[in-house]
Amino acid sequence: MSRIAYVDGSYRPHREAAVHIEDRGYQFADGVYEVVAVRNGQLIDEALHLARLRRSLAELRIDGALADGPLKVVFREMIRRNGVVNGIVYLQITRGAAPRDHAFPKAARPVVVVTSRRSRPPDPRLGENGISVITIPDIRWQRCDIKSIALVANVLGKQRAREAGAYEAWQVDEVGRVTEGTSTNAWIVTGDNEVITRAADSAILNGVTRLALIEIIRRAGYGFAERPFTVAEAKYSREAFLTSTTADLLPVVSIDGKPVADGTPGPLSQILRAAYLAHAAERA
Ligand code: PLP
Repeated sequence: MSRIAYVDGSYRPHREAAVHIEDRGYQFADGVYEVVAVRNGQLIDEALHLARLRRSLAELRIDGALADGPLKVVFREMIRRNGVVNGIVYLQITRGAAPRDHAFPKAARPVVVVTSRRSRPPDPRLGENGISVITIPDIRWQRCDIKSIALVANVLGKQRAREAGAYEAWQVDEVGRVTEGTSTNAWIVTGDNEVITRAADSAILNGVTRLALIEIIRRAGYGFAERPFTVAEAKYSREAFLTSTTADLLPVVSIDGKPVADGTPGPLSQILRAAYLAHAAERA
């Protein structure tokens, strides 16, 4: 089956799909995106992704993009046409194509691109054995709450993690507090078994997995607080883990080469991972 992409109103063979060279996404990173997981042919937490998309578009003042109804039709059509049972849907909306000028163009209209591909859920061994992270300075802009396609700082950070043999890089603000990973949210469990993650301020992306997990934690009655934590607190925490649409929940067993607790996935992380996977399976 050859891959199909949705580009600006039509379905095209993936290898021929293209946007204009003066698309503002290409020239200014003037756009937003979403990645939605597909499990057993179903879109996981689609409503939360669409709500965040609308917020990102509003914050960037990109008007007139496809409404939720037609977008949902495109998502389903892309899953069907690409034969995706387990994988992802990627959506990108830019301000459109116009002669290069920083200010908003008068005539441009948003360009919507949707792709979908098969992928396996993360290797279960990552969940069982845990992963390592390094810490790096957070050099990003001050509106990380917007899911903007301007990801070069995240790209550089993830590459540093790869080169250090780590799964992820946790970014750290100027006062030593962890903001988030380059494509994941960061969590710790304190000595009192309280689950901690930074509040959804403008320094982090309010992850859909984060929101789903908070709901699970609250319903189960675990101790929970939304507050910043420092690198030192994370290194000496009882447990640590990260979350994202594509990673699910992965225990963090080492930070900058220092084992977290005894260097194995913590019990609460494993319970929460199982609960999150059950939540995703329920929706699928
Ligand atoms: N933080 C950043 C910077 C991200 O890019 C992502 C996902 O791409 C996340 C957090 C996790 O968000 P979600 O759970 O919605 O995938």
